[in-house]
Amino acid sequence: MPWASANPSIELLRWRAIRDSLPFIGTSAADLPATRHCRGRSTQRTGSRFGGNTVASKSIREFDVVVVGGGGSGLAAAIAAASEGARTVVLEKSTELRGSTGRSVGSIAASGTPDQKRLGIADSADRHLADYRVISGHLAATENVELAMVLTHNVTETVAWLREMGMEFFGPVGESPHSAPRLHNVLPGSRSYIYHLERRARRLGVVIELGVAGDRLLHEDGRVTGVEAHDAVGHRQTYAARRGVVLAAGDFSASATLKREWIDDRVSRFVPVNPCATGDAQRMALELGGQVLNAEVFDVPSMRLAPPPSEGLFGLLQKLPPRAAVTKPIRWGLANLPNRLIRSLMMGFVTTYLSPREALFDSGAILVDTHGRLRSNTSENINLVVAELGEDGGYIVGDRTLYEKFSSDPHYVATAPGVAFAYMPDFRRSRKDVYAEAPTTDELAAEIGISAAALNKSIADAAASVTGGAAPLTEGPYFALGPVRAYLLQTNGGLKVSTRLEVLGRDDRPIRGLYAAGNAGQGGLALFGHGHHLGWAFTSGRIAGRNVARAASAQHLAAAE
Ligand SMILES: Cc1cc2nc3c(=O)[nH]c(=O)nc-3n(C[C@H](O)[C@H](O)[C@H](O)COP(=O)(O)OP(=O)(O)OC[C@H]3O[C@@H](n4cnc5c(N)ncnc54)[C@H](O)[C@@H]3O)c2cc1C
Repeated sequence: MPWASANPSIELLRWRAIRDSLPFIGTSAADLPATRHCRGRSTQRTGSRFGGNTVASKSIREFDVVVVGGGGSGLAAAIAAASEGARTVVLEKSTELRGSTGRSVGSIAASGTPDQKRLGIADSADRHLADYRVISGHLAATENVELAMVLTHNVTETVAWLREMGMEFFGPVGESPHSAPRLHNVLPGSRSYIYHLERRARRLGVVIELGVAGDRLLHEDGRVTGVEAHDAVGHRQTYAARRGVVLAAGDFSASATLKREWIDDRVSRFVPVNPCATGDAQRMALELGGQVLNAEVFDVPSMRLAPPPSEGLFGLLQKLPPRAAVTKPIRWGLANLPNRLIRSLMMGFVTTYLSPREALFDSGAILVDTHGRLRSNTSENINLVVAELGEDGGYIVGDRTLYEKFSSDPHYVATAPGVAFAYMPDFRRSRKDVYAEAPTTDELAAEIGISAAALNKSIADAAASVTGGAAPLTEGPYFALGPVRAYLLQTNGGLKVSTRLEVLGRDDRPIRGLYAAGNAGQGGLALFGHGHHLGWAFTSGRIAGRNVARAASAQHLAAAE
């Protein structure tokens, strides 16, 4: 039996398949940490608080609102501002609009939606908030309850707002620890957000500047008046903001400096999913006295095998524009096709990427790096150990005994995206790109291009320190699974903001003319539990955009004085 059904409920099965597969097919995990599209330099300077930051720039372009960052929160802010009649520009450091938003799984947690009502699911914003507070776990005591309220009581309207732009969702489906099915999953994947938001923004006349990185905030009389930016070849440009600036430049998972400073040295070496997430917004606001909350909180990476070279049917689907002609049939199919058919469809792309089980390490598998050095022979913190190996990744090495153990139920090697369980023979047969086998360890080392001496030493060292039920690796043939890598999804340290999304200074008073949204304006929200980050990105973006557009312009203020 090559694959055995995980046999979860059909809703859960379909949801997991979407959650685990689509974005990574679209992403083609090989390009996850690529820097090709993020040429802007990140700001490195530390500045003084409100003192002489205005410098001569080549030219000045005037807008009502300047948004720094063209991901989910930035585009939402720009649309909201432009809808209020504000002349708006979005500065995007990358040469494409995408951000973490366009690399994400794409699910939003929302309550009281028409989808929930259609399925007879009783839920409410208050219940969502209560769940949210439980989900916050060890951070519950310091959680920003006011912002959590803003999220849970506005996200339903946000989903309707996204849907009205043409986005199609599947669900809602349940996932612990949410106490009700609440996850709305955009079809066919998260790039749909960017596609539709960009279309709407452009229709409203928003100017989108690609390859332009915001560097620092300009200010006058304690009020933020614009942004100084540069493009990929270093040309400088000033963007004046009559009403204000929205910082929406995401998290700092790609800044080794900030990760080292705010989390630790180990995390600073983790490879980010989004290479543009360099914490520029946090840095810019800090220069004006802003505060970063939850700076040390990050999402723990999990190890994954690379996807196969071919991306299959769903890879193709990801490349199609996410218009109704594409998304409606997918939605219909997911809701109506018999389980058997969906399963066989899924099996066609089931080998996209897989997360090997930690249990392998409890049964004797060892993790070696690309030099053959032993990195671990226990499941303890194994994801963090893999993450430390960075781009090179490592290999999971085992022997015949381990192979046989993980050849049948219940000892699966990986869950093939929510659809079925994968065992060792499945890898041997269909994943030759990540599976190697040889009669001896010397030959295995040659197969995967590592030092035989180092591998043999690693196996001997692991055998000497074997504890519990794990058996040492002694019996050929030997196998290697890999490379395995673990990427850092995101950090959660964002600027302290008011419920109006104004950035708060050290005295907890708003820095005039400055707003933040998304990861940049996470404001002490833990956002634990699936679907809260995207909900916050779009919801906070909408609120920030609306408020900045309604703010009195600097000229009006000057005239009134
Ligand atoms: C693999 C993955 C899966 C995820 N899945 C989910 C999920 O299913 N549900 C969920 O709720 N959350 C999920 N998340 C988290 C979620 O995607 C993010 O929290 C959210 O998209 C953040 O939106 P944002 O607008 O703040 O940041 P981003 O979308 O990252 O946008 C920030 C933008 O700012 C740009 N930028 C950076 N610096 C500058 C600068 N100096 N000048 C101009 N532009 C700049 C960046 O290039 C980027 O485009 C996932 C994240 C990842 C990585």
